[in-house]
Formats: sequence, C-alpha cells, structure tokens
Amino acid sequence: MKKLGKYSIGLGDRFGHQGSAQLKAIIAASEKGIDITPVWNKSNREHNTIGTQPVDVRIEADLATGSAGFKKSYFVDADHINIDTVDRFIECSDFFTIDVASYIGLKADEKDILEFLSGAEKYTGKLKIAGTKLSFDTSKSQIKQFAEKYLFAAKKARDIYFKIEKGKGNGNFITEISMDEVAQPQTPVELLFILKMLAAENIPVQTIAPKFSGRFNKGVDYVGDPLLFAREFESDILVIDYAVREFGLPENLKISIHSGSDKFAIYPYIGSIIKKYDMGIHLKTAGTTWLEEVIGLAESGGEALDFVKELYIKSLEKIDELCEPYADVIDIEISSLPSKQEVSQWNSARFSDSLKHISGNSDYNPDMRQLVHVAYKLAALQMKDYFRLLETNEQVVSKCVYENIFNRHICRLFDLK
Ligand SMILES: [Zn+2]
Repeated sequence: MKKLGKYSIGLGDRFGHQGSAQLKAIIAASEKGIDITPVWNKSNREHNTIGTQPVDVRIEADLATGSAGFKKSYFVDADHINIDTVDRFIECSDFFTIDVASYIGLKADEKDILEFLSGAEKYTGKLKIAGTKLSFDTSKSQIKQFAEKYLFAAKKARDIYFKIEKGKGNGNFITEISMDEVAQPQTPVELLFILKMLAAENIPVQTIAPKFSGRFNKGVDYVGDPLLFAREFESDILVIDYAVREFGLPENLKISIHSGSDKFAIYPYIGSIIKKYDMGIHLKTAGTTWLEEVIGLAESGGEALDFVKELYIKSLEKIDELCEPYADVIDIEISSLPSKQEVSQWNSARFSDSLKHISGNSDYNPDMRQLVHVAYKLAALQMKDYFRLLETNEQVVSKCVYENIFNRHICRLFDLK
C-alpha cells in the first residue's frame, strides 16, 4: 500500500510556478533532520477558477522533483473532491481528499443506523481511552445522534473511495477524509465514532481533516484560544491512536490541518503534542504561496508592482464576488482595507509589508491579506501578463515562497532554529 510519511505538507500552488521553490523548503528541512513528504494539492474549485486541469499539478510535481533530483516520495492530491468531481483527477492523482462535508447531517437508512449501533454497543457508558487519562461518557442516544449525523457521510465516502479504487487499483493511492468545511467543529468523541464508521466501511483512511474549534481563516493566523485548541487537538491525537488499535485503521493515520498555513499561534502546540505522542501530521496549505507571488512582484517594483497594485484595486471593486465562495473561511474588516488612492501612492516596501505575514510589523494588514488571498481569480483573468511577470521576476518571487514555507511555517512547526 502507498504510505504517506509521518510528516507531510500540502503545498498548494495555484498557478503552478513555485513547485521548485516549495520543494527547496522541504529539502532544507531534511537537511535539518526533519523528513517531510511534499504533497501538491489543488481543489476542483481552484482548477475551475483558474482554468487548469488536474494533470497540470502532476506535471508540476514531476518537474520540480525531477529537476531537483528528489528521490523520496511525493504525492499529487485531488483536494476536496466528491463523487461528481473526482473523475478527471483519477489518472493523475495519487492522493485523494474525499470531502464529505455536504453529506453531514443527512440521514442514513434506518437499517444501516441500527447495524452501526449494534456494532458500537460495547463503546457505550464510560469509554476509557486505554493508556491515557482521556475518557468519555457515552450514552446509547448520543451514539445514535452521531450515527444520524455522520453515517450517511461515511457511506458516501465509501462510494467515492471505491470509485477511485476501481480506477487506480487497491493500495495505489492515499485516502484523506475531510469534514472541515462545515459550521460546527467535531468534538474528539465524535471523531472517535466517525473513525469507527469509516473503519466499518473499509476505508483505509491515512489522514483525516476535522473541523477544529476557532477560526482557520485563509492566509492569516488562528483566531481563538490556542490553549483550548491544544486541548482539543491532543484529545483528537489520542482518539486516533486508539482508533488505529481498536478499529484496525492504517497505523500511520494522522490529522490533516486544512487552511493550515499561517496558523502561527498554534504551531508550537501542534509541534509539541505530536512530539509528545510520536505522531505524524499533515499540514495543508494553498493560498499562502499565491500571496508570496504577489509579495515578490511588489518587491520587484516597476511594472510588477503596478500589476499587483492594479490587482488589489480591482479586488476592492469586486470584493463581494471574490469573497462569496470563501465566506466561511475569511473575516475581512472592510474599514481596515487601504483605499485605491492610498495604495496608488505606495512603494514596493509599503505594499509588501502590508501583505507579508509578520505580525510585529505595524504595516501588516491581515484584512488586506485575506482579500488578496481570495483575489487570485483576477490574476487568472490576465494569465499571460501574470506569468510573464512571474518569470521575469522569478528570483525575487521564489525567494519569498521559499522563506515563507521554510522559515515561517516549517521552522515554527518543528521548532527548528
Ligand atoms: Zn479543507
């Protein structure tokens, strides 16, 4: 069976130009003793917005790894696919993020619910997670509620999984199940029963993406109490360890954190908890690399700076349209956005400092950063010019991409100096 390494990072790269710069960060980590498997992920939504095909991500990953002589394993992730969108990803992807969010809350057949309940009977009452201090009080009616909320989604996940398996063959791909794009977080005890359902459906899930408490807004830091997150995350880790032993799930099953980029406030907790229990992690990032392209172009000055200024000004005009698909994962304070007149006067440093995620810098503006995060569609509308500028200013841009992934993300997560 294809196995995902203990540590892995989902490297979203919307425009497919930064594979080598991203891989450089992975190689730098391995030189510091941290082996990270790179996974290039791109969702159906991103492909549709930009007009790319899933095979483009495969080409990028093969080129980046080939030209760097990278001999370790790497993957191409069909991110957030479902039964209707998976087909065109099957041939070129070897990692599938099966998104069941839209099926949560739909009720499975009564007979299936009863069958699940009878299999879960032994987990009723005081459920102690062996070898830990963690325990849950579960009642029959509570487990029934979980089944009514999640069993249909687990059955759908099975349908999607088997569709992929039919196309690719057993063991030839990594399976992730994602439930992060919902309003309510899943609690650790819910996660436990969800894993029971996935095991009962024979889905060899290697990564699972729950929704955690707090806000995981795109491109900016975690919003919430990091200590509460840490407690929840630690319980989830213990639940996973238990579920692997108890339900026979793949032994390398681990948590996948979506919108995982830029959550600097919680990285030290994630890092220390996975170390404490010797567990793995998959950190999924996407738009943080696109933002570095914009920052790099701003730093390059001249025509490149004019281009990104223009892009920002257009994003102000189209703010509703751009934000609409991402409404659940952004929080933009409109009054904090700099105006067209202000930005027109800015030099390279002022523009890049506003966008660069350095919270100690007084010019850093997380509202502007979130808006530009969702404005990649505007660059897609001027793809030829955009690519030409990326290519002319490649050195500056790739340095920004590398430093963001390595210094701000990997070093913080794994406590590298
Ligand atoms: Zn997600």
